[in-house]
Amino acid sequence: MSDAETRIVVVGASLAGLRGAESLRQAGFCGALTIIGAEPHRPYDRPPLSKAVLTGEVAADATTLPNLVALEADWRFGDPATGLDRTQRTVTLASGEAVPYDRLLIATGASARGWPNAAEAGLAGVHTLRGRDEAEALRRDLAAGPAHVVIIGGGFIGCEVAASCQALGLTVTLVETGPTLLAKVLGQHLGSVVEALHASLGTTIRSGVKVAALEDDGAGRVARVRLADGTVLPADVVVVALGAVRNTGWLAGSGLACDEGGIDCDAQGYVLDESERPDTRIAAAGDVARFPHPLYPGHRIALEHWGHAVAQGRHAGRLLAGLAPEPYAEVPAFWSSQGGITLKSVGLTTGADGFVVARGSLKEGRFVAVYGREGRCIAAVAFDCARWLPTYAEHIAAGAPFPPETGGVDAGPFAVLPPAFPEPAEPTSSEKDAA
Ligand SMILES: Cc1cc2nc3c(=O)[nH]c(=O)nc-3n(C[C@H](O)[C@H](O)[C@H](O)COP(=O)(O)OP(=O)(O)OC[C@H]3O[C@@H](n4cnc5c(N)ncnc54)[C@H](O)[C@@H]3O)c2cc1C
Repeated sequence: MSDAETRIVVVGASLAGLRGAESLRQAGFCGALTIIGAEPHRPYDRPPLSKAVLTGEVAADATTLPNLVALEADWRFGDPATGLDRTQRTVTLASGEAVPYDRLLIATGASARGWPNAAEAGLAGVHTLRGRDEAEALRRDLAAGPAHVVIIGGGFIGCEVAASCQALGLTVTLVETGPTLLAKVLGQHLGSVVEALHASLGTTIRSGVKVAALEDDGAGRVARVRLADGTVLPADVVVVALGAVRNTGWLAGSGLACDEGGIDCDAQGYVLDESERPDTRIAAAGDVARFPHPLYPGHRIALEHWGHAVAQGRHAGRLLAGLAPEPYAEVPAFWSSQGGITLKSVGLTTGADGFVVARGSLKEGRFVAVYGREGRCIAAVAFDCARWLPTYAEHIAAGAPFPPETGGVDAGPFAVLPPAFPEPAEPTSSEKDAA
């Protein structure tokens, strides 16, 4: 079959899908391109949704991503894929249409994990945040000036929403089951620094306690949050920020290896079937892909990083265009803005057995912390000093010794501290042991 007769379908019209489609065209693919999106919107950017969109500095509908390349694609918005038949090579849509493909890019990302009690989750004033419509709804509730906002979950989204609420002058309580905010990702030492930042902004932090129930006002609106220790917090708005589940439900019955932690891929980016065989017609990219990374051997990882969705989307485009790129090995990188501070990280802290403060100091709240595992640098986190990070990214990519060597501008020797990740340090479903 010539390239012009080949049909490529992209499922997921967001960052990874868009950049993947562009990369297909840049790689010279000239056949039919169909892009299927569950949402009614053109691809848009999610990072502003927990930041400038909530504070009202950017309108939710001003987040549309630019097309960097003319795509000449057949776009299907608001018609989610509901099934995949790999024998017939069709993607079924909610409208009933069966869209044929010769090659397929799966880029369906993730959704916010909802509050587990459906009746409580359905109360007015209870929000999750993943998409533009959710951000718009939360923005409206916050703009109405609620007396009390309660955020459940002290991960990145919960922390960013708390900072945005503070910027609006609202009274905020952040409830986190772990010992500190962000302890799972950064460990307790750095988590405490983040906690001090949010306390200084005015947020009340309740760490180490679970939320037991959301209670209503008798008229269908949330009024209180009851904690497991018996405390009752008044709440006019509740934001459930309990992480993400990957959008793989539509792949049920396809024979592909997937669950709520992602769809398994090989090192190239081809999806794996339930017997771990690659399907070389199908690649996955972005938050939905769970893949082996050479810097973190032994298991597959799924990331929730903007830069990764771009890089892996582009990689998958080249792969499906037949350019046979090298195995995907981009060093993970992430940023978060909270209360005027930018936190940037490179690498992954998972499994770190120690960290050092390599520049600045935790006390000053301006530093680079480098994490190590078994004598190698595996991650670095810059707090309010991102310009120091590129050097450490090179250390991580090269598997440089940990603790980082002294000399140059660094002030070592460094005291190696335990990162103090909370127990249990079980891998999550987005980190799966590789076969
Ligand atoms: C509020 C928020 C703030 C963030 N801030 C940062 C940040 O500061 N820094 C950072 O590095 N990262 C940040 N991220 C993460 C970053 O935005 C994601 O990593 C990125 O959006 C992933 O892109 P993706 O295309 O893989 O998935 P998504 O952006 O989730 O897109 C997947 C798309 O697929 C669609 N879809 C799902 N199921 C189907 C189906 N069955 N059929 C068709 N379409 C389907 C979805 O509707 C969605 O449009 C943030 C994320 C959120 C939600």
